[in-house]
Amino acid sequence: MRKKAGKETIVKKTGKTPAKSKAPGFATTCIHAGQDPEPVTGAVTVPIFQTSTFVQEGFGKPRQGYEYARTKNPTRLALELQLAAIEGGAVAHAFASGMAAETTLMLSFVKAGDHVLVSRNTYGGTYRFFSKVLANFGVTFAYVDTTDAETVRKAVTSATRMLFVETPTNPTMEISDLAALAAVAKIEGKRIGAKIRVVVDNTFATPFFQKPLALGCDVVVHSTTKYLNGHSDSVGGAVVCADPKDGEKIGFTQNAAGAILSPFDSFLVSRGIKTLPVRMRAHDANGREVAAWLTKQKKVKKVFYPGLSSHPGHAVAARQMSGFGGMISFDLGSIEAVKRFLDRVVVCALGESLGGVESLISHPASMTHASVEPEERLRRGITPGLVRVSVGIEDAPDILQDLENALSAV
Ligand SMILES: *Cc1c(COP(=O)(O)O)cnc(C)c1O
Repeated sequence: MRKKAGKETIVKKTGKTPAKSKAPGFATTCIHAGQDPEPVTGAVTVPIFQTSTFVQEGFGKPRQGYEYARTKNPTRLALELQLAAIEGGAVAHAFASGMAAETTLMLSFVKAGDHVLVSRNTYGGTYRFFSKVLANFGVTFAYVDTTDAETVRKAVTSATRMLFVETPTNPTMEISDLAALAAVAKIEGKRIGAKIRVVVDNTFATPFFQKPLALGCDVVVHSTTKYLNGHSDSVGGAVVCADPKDGEKIGFTQNAAGAILSPFDSFLVSRGIKTLPVRMRAHDANGREVAAWLTKQKKVKKVFYPGLSSHPGHAVAARQMSGFGGMISFDLGSIEAVKRFLDRVVVCALGESLGGVESLISHPASMTHASVEPEERLRRGITPGLVRVSVGIEDAPDILQDLENALSAV
């Protein structure tokens, strides 16, 4: 598994993995991929290379491709190798935020005149970037129900060049069948004579539970801010490509546009990924327990969790995911009830974001999805009474007790 740093890791980045025996398991990959001991001192942990530039060996002789740290930094490269390995992709790039990753993605793969299909319940920031920024550059977007592959097929036009899917969606946990959508994109692409890239925002599920590239999708994007880093102490993003040529395009734009992840944040995200499997198992166990408890509460009108057999996407989720995670939304019926409830929580921190070890709770309509127009919000099922909880990995009885206390105020 471990290889000397330097040439070999650079070779890996281009997608040509050196011959090896049996493929390592997921946890081993999380801990070791890209994390070679530092060649000078043997430091087990990849150091934070806090440098902007690298001294050249001689005229025209940069060391192993290291010239300037926007282009390439060893700490970021270690993370990028790790990201590519855990998603099963050829090449990964790390960015200053999830939105910076999406910006680079779109600058690399779409241009004026292109049409993009997007999951209708996509993350609020993605919707804002697409509808209020990119739309000004002649790219058109259609927000469709990607839980139905036939609806997606019908929405393809001769200009369609990308299908941007989020599953499970934020915050109503809609589930889309990635293998079915990849098949639709392939067939329809052939029909219109163009490549329709399938991009999956895998932030909620993480590769521990869901591997979009193995299901035939082309690109995975992440907000590493959430589960991959997992400790609510870094903002970052990633793009992972199945095709090394796509990876090269992303790398070119990353260097040209410059939205790179810093060496310190690269170190934090690398460290977070090493415990991804143990954290995700704990999020999943707590998530199941909290969701089951919520369904039994009279004051809770509705619970959105793909692990519940009553969830419309349960069958697909059970097939394409190996767990359901810790993201749950539930409806308390009114904004007044939400206010009383959220003012009472103690263990669950009231705040935006998700995927940290601590439980985080929010009100999508006024917080994460405030930038979505009110009518559009309602159309997406983001009602005034909806609460979203990112169930952390505290002791489950403490989380349940906290929710029970808060619910008694409603
Ligand atoms: C948070 C988030 C993003 C944006 O990531 P940032 O790191 O906040 O820029 C994109 N997609 C999903 C699903 C998210 O939860």
